[in-house]
Amino acid sequence: MSSLPTHWSSGSTRIELVQGDITDQQVDAIVNAANSRLAGGGGVDGAIHRRGGPSIMAETRQKYPNGCPTGSAVISGAGDLAARYVIHAVGPVWHGGDRQEAELLASAYRRSLELAVQHGCQLVAFPSLSTGAYGYPVEAAARIALRTIRDFLTEHSKPALVRFVLFDAKTFQTFAEALRELI
Ligand code: ADP
Repeated sequence: MSSLPTHWSSGSTRIELVQGDITDQQVDAIVNAANSRLAGGGGVDGAIHRRGGPSIMAETRQKYPNGCPTGSAVISGAGDLAARYVIHAVGPVWHGGDRQEAELLASAYRRSLELAVQHGCQLVAFPSLSTGAYGYPVEAAARIALRTIRDFLTEHSKPALVRFVLFDAKTFQTFAEALRELI
């Protein structure tokens, strides 16, 4: 089997793919796959609130009582996680592809990066937004995720490192295949 790429770099910016649990990451910001009510849930969201403790939810309830629209993101502290911030990104639920899912997914990634840059984050860890409970097909989502982040890094030259932390081997491999297409 030919080996697939696990990183991309341009100037002083870099994208990395790793397989693992995002709550183990020591970075400036961990991105959460949140829902629009910021109500907590399973998957990444459950893991972040379990490991990060109750202060994260207490802060988002207070600062964002109306939640966060799909395609956008909000930021909070990171509680007990080894990060300064959690960025709660709301990707779209997959409805078959004709409800602006692609645009909304790209904009959730973009908005997360904007918040990271505004808060001086150099190292940012992302999960694969929308491809768990929200049902977005991984191949299409991986292409959008990587393209959107590459375009942002090329345009803004920051953050320095975006690390995708992909939970399972299949998602990791699909991202690596999408990265190969991109470079
Ligand atoms: P969504 O509701 O946006 O689909 P999920 O959390 O259900 O979000 O799933 C998004 C992706 O994150 C899936 O690929 C899922 O397997 C993965 N995932 C679940 N838990 C973790 C974790 N602790 N770290 C990294 N990725 C995770």
